[in-house]
Amino acid sequence: MRGDTVRVDVLGVGFDNLTLSEAAERGLELLHAGGAHYVVTPNPEIVEVCRENPAAREAVNSAALVLPDGIGVIKGAAMLGTPLKERVPGIEFAARMLEKMAEEGLSLYLLGAKPGVAEMAAERLRERYPGLRIAGVHDGYFQEDGPVVQDIRRCGADAVFVCLGAPKQELWMAKNGSATGARLLCGLGGSMDVFAGEVKRAPKFWCDHGLEWFYRLCSDPRRLGRMMKLPLFLVHVWQEGRKK
Ligand code: UDP
Repeated sequence: MRGDTVRVDVLGVGFDNLTLSEAAERGLELLHAGGAHYVVTPNPEIVEVCRENPAAREAVNSAALVLPDGIGVIKGAAMLGTPLKERVPGIEFAARMLEKMAEEGLSLYLLGAKPGVAEMAAERLRERYPGLRIAGVHDGYFQEDGPVVQDIRRCGADAVFVCLGAPKQELWMAKNGSATGARLLCGLGGSMDVFAGEVKRAPKFWCDHGLEWFYRLCSDPRRLGRMMKLPLFLVHVWQEGRKK
């Protein structure tokens, strides 16, 4: 089931034009609706991956919610004359969902990151969100999908946080989402490392000024290669804008 809103196209990826609160509300509705739904949170780097990889693009656009994670997507949409309401970082969407799930005593499965990280995240999330039930955990370095899908199904999780990096997590959710028996799957990239306390999120000042990407780059200069996709993204948006 896709979102009800008209999507804003940015280089072939359709974004839902929602505020963080609206997105969280929609996420909650999906959690209570029948069937399985998944949420993706593309940043410019993922949009660039989607331009080159049709399977990734299909997986992203088939999500029930496509949320703009990254100031670059907001700038790109504005440059194309179709502004989006606001940036909706995956990790903030996840925090809202955690609050709601804890209130309702729902259960969550944590999938992804290096061995041991999901366990640490589970411990911290249990402390931070009393009432939240952690149904199970699994690291993100497995060879076969089948046993992981079966484990999620066996645990009877209401929701799954899928943190395998892009586009692996989007392809994984598109292929396996329904088989897990969970109602909501969220692709959240490096969020598991943040929940586990392994990686710190940028301080509020950097986030508020659209500089989270720069903070992440300074904290981990190995990201430079990947981040070169950001200027490329802006060039492609500029070219697209000129066609209009
Ligand atoms: N990861 C994983 N399985 C893989 C590849 C990556 O679980 O096969 C995890 C990795 O350990 C990290 C996350 O996926 O926790 C990706 O983090 P990254 O910072 O690349 O994601 P971003 O938030 O930038 O999309």
